[in-house]
Amino acid sequence: MANKDYYSILGVKRDAKPDEIKKAYRRLARKYHPDVNPGDKVAEEKFKEIQEAYDILSDEKKRKIYDKFGYYNENLDPDAPFGAKTGASSGGINFDFSGFSWDFGDFGTRSGSTGSTFRDIFSELFGGGSKREAEPPKPMPKRGEDIEIPLALSFDEAVKGLTTNITVNRSEQCPRCQGAGDTGGPLVICSTCNGSGKVTKIGGRLQFSQVCPDCAGTGRRRQPCSLCQGKGVIPKTEQVKVRIPAGVDTGSRVRVPKKGHAGRLGGEPGDLYIITNVSNHKYFTRKGDNIYVTVPITIPEAVLGAKIEVPTIEGKAQLRIPPGTQSGQRFRLRGRGVPSLRNPNLRGDQYVEVQIKLPKVISEETKELLRQFEKLNPENPRKEMGLE
Ligand SMILES: [Zn+2]
Ligand SMILES: [Zn+2]
Repeated sequence: MANKDYYSILGVKRDAKPDEIKKAYRRLARKYHPDVNPGDKVAEEKFKEIQEAYDILSDEKKRKIYDKFGYYNENLDPDAPFGAKTGASSGGINFDFSGFSWDFGDFGTRSGSTGSTFRDIFSELFGGGSKREAEPPKPMPKRGEDIEIPLALSFDEAVKGLTTNITVNRSEQCPRCQGAGDTGGPLVICSTCNGSGKVTKIGGRLQFSQVCPDCAGTGRRRQPCSLCQGKGVIPKTEQVKVRIPAGVDTGSRVRVPKKGHAGRLGGEPGDLYIITNVSNHKYFTRKGDNIYVTVPITIPEAVLGAKIEVPTIEGKAQLRIPPGTQSGQRFRLRGRGVPSLRNPNLRGDQYVEVQIKLPKVISEETKELLRQFEKLNPENPRKEMGLE
């Protein structure tokens, strides 16, 4: 079912007053009524068309929507393109018998003469409540697409979080046509589909045709808006303030609601996602919310025990090295890791691995001390391997 020019169907001007529309409708309805043209399919079609045109143009709200968008759909809102109502139960033009019967009842009371016969005839013609044909394609409000933007962060920024401005190239609802794509005017051939109502899409190696999104498959639309060329949206470069929470890691997705591309026909805008990429740290590595660091210790510190300073992401901390600590031994600093993204009150731990660093022995005196040390501690660490 193509979009029709309801005004020319009723033979009235676009600025016709309700009274003129009603008069034109009555005149045509009498002329093409099936009762007057028994068995005439053309007249029957014409009669349906007149009925449809009157259904839209006699209703102030429906007419406003039609004037604005070039077709009628009850989901469209002529005054507030954003937040238009969705999820309505039925389409705009009701082809059910019940929908028409209401109109006939109305017609009858208004004309005061032939109403009841019209209703009876109509009932015979179309039966009760059955749909005559598929409903016309309805352009539904469409949510805008999401935008993903990568963001490079230092290790510290990821651990502590930050607020920053990000340049986003997004689309916004066209201010001239309020996203409708046109500003009224006569119907012309849709330039997107050249009037065919279909566009060809490529999906992988397959080609398939889809209903043209710009004319809802009707092939006709109003002169496109000069600002957005009928797209309903215009490109916009915007600085968006983004709060990166403490604890993000490489690949974290930080959502900024409604800062994606604009929706169509009153649909919600998409979201903006910041995808973080965290650079390596000089000392620290990270696994989830835990932080790992390797710290060198001396032989006396390992043998005798010591209190040493170790780095944490919040600054220095004290670590007690017990006597007899081996190289590679790992110590845990509870709660000194990364804040949890799920619960900012929780933190991971920091693990400190110690590595014994050999001294550079140059003086003869130190060498002599080590020989004495060996004599006092005759140990063979390879004994378990059966080696001398
Ligand atoms: Zn526009
Ligand atoms: Zn089209």
